[in-house]
Amino acid sequence: MRSAPLRRVCGALLVALVSVGALAGCRGDGPDSAEKSTARPSATQTPSATASLPAETDPPADPDDPALDSALSEPVEDSVYPDVGDPSVDSLHYDLDLAWTPDSRTLVGDATIELRSTADGDHLQLDLGEPLEVSAVTLDGADAPFEHEGKDLVVSVPVVKDERYVLEVRYSGTPETTPAPTTRTDFSTSGWAITPSGETWTMQEPYGAFTWYPVNDQPADKALYDITVTVPSPWVAVANGVLADQTEHDGLTTSSWHLSEPASSYLVTVATGDYTQTTNTSQSGVEISYWVPSDRPGLAQGLESAAAGLDWLEALLGPYPFDSLGFLLVDSKSGMETQTLITLGATDYTTSGAVLVHEMAHQWYGDEITPDDWRDVWMNEGMAMYLQGCWQAEEDGRSVDSVMDEYAAFESALRAKAGPPAAYDPTQFGNSNVYYGPALMWHELRKRIGDEAFWKVVRDWPARAPGTNANRDDYLDWLVDQTHVDRSFFEDWLLSPTTPPRS
Ligand SMILES: [Zn+2]
Repeated sequence: MRSAPLRRVCGALLVALVSVGALAGCRGDGPDSAEKSTARPSATQTPSATASLPAETDPPADPDDPALDSALSEPVEDSVYPDVGDPSVDSLHYDLDLAWTPDSRTLVGDATIELRSTADGDHLQLDLGEPLEVSAVTLDGADAPFEHEGKDLVVSVPVVKDERYVLEVRYSGTPETTPAPTTRTDFSTSGWAITPSGETWTMQEPYGAFTWYPVNDQPADKALYDITVTVPSPWVAVANGVLADQTEHDGLTTSSWHLSEPASSYLVTVATGDYTQTTNTSQSGVEISYWVPSDRPGLAQGLESAAAGLDWLEALLGPYPFDSLGFLLVDSKSGMETQTLITLGATDYTTSGAVLVHEMAHQWYGDEITPDDWRDVWMNEGMAMYLQGCWQAEEDGRSVDSVMDEYAAFESALRAKAGPPAAYDPTQFGNSNVYYGPALMWHELRKRIGDEAFWKVVRDWPARAPGTNANRDDYLDWLVDQTHVDRSFFEDWLLSPTTPPRS
């Protein structure tokens, strides 16, 4: 997920802050100098037109299309957040047609979901926020009875294991964010957020995609996405993947985005507002887009160092794994590694070089290969934090060891507060304990097996099974096999209530 929480960021960013002489502005807890600069990204006038869904032009959905096979998953019930997601559904493709009217705060949605049932049963269940009212549900074109209580959308239809279906859900309403199970200071809710001007954005880790579309909102179920959003002009919608089409009609702009690699729902992002796109290109040839509010073009210049950061990452991790890469600036204090389109608040910290590297590192560690259960978010954060630390050491011209000494200074306290990295307190999702201990583990592994073997393991893991999920046992088995380091080394770092000894 996200970069490290702000209260911890001060520790993590010590190196950077010292180098720019800004340490005095960094306080241990609560709003720090980074947050003070959190201006709303824009002060756009709210357009008054009402958005409606354009006439349906998509070809009929074909759930048996082999092109969907890349999204086949093995869904699980989450061990940390079992109330979200349903392992009997394997969603393959979400075709989301949305219309957002900022004036009235109304979202109209038509979601066409191609899915596989993983079991014989008498219903399909998805997550969908309670404030959204469902007007119709069809299964393979036929009306289907449904109930929508709380966030559970239950469609009463007989289903057969491994059969594929097309479920269409029509709904509307004003989305509401959902409380996030965290004590972090940079976010407390997740899902579809609405600014005072009616612009919208999303961050939705560990869950919250359900606040704006019907979804199997658990990371083990990856799916392909086509997201089409209509908003009043001159506003536009920005989402994951590539912009496949953009048309203006009757004072409305319809933007269609296509994501060709399967993604977990927490990695989906969409924003609406008055955005301008600029681009630059890494030395390796990856074009990077920057979507910033049109009245604050200077924000894009601050992000352009992402190209050099990507080159740095590719030298260690191999070629960037996806078809497109961009950054989307929104009205948040946090940052999120949403797949192919990184979502960032407009703060000094969330737009810093360290965070750009951190979120791009997640494209390999978290997005390309994704934990199948939230207990293992350390798989994402440990490596992203370690790579961020290595990058910072180079920036500052000092040793990685010295950065790790800083991480280690507060690691024991984090473990004591929020639990071991891979067995954390469920009310403290994304606390710093899942970042720093696992980062230290990677550094200790590097010291044990040497640079060459270490970077080979780091590079090979995401490339081993692109676009899939992994569970802890698979990962640890593979690490033991590759490194010949005893399994207890990894388990001590991940599961011990106290910090293991460092070499
Ligand atoms: Zn992260």
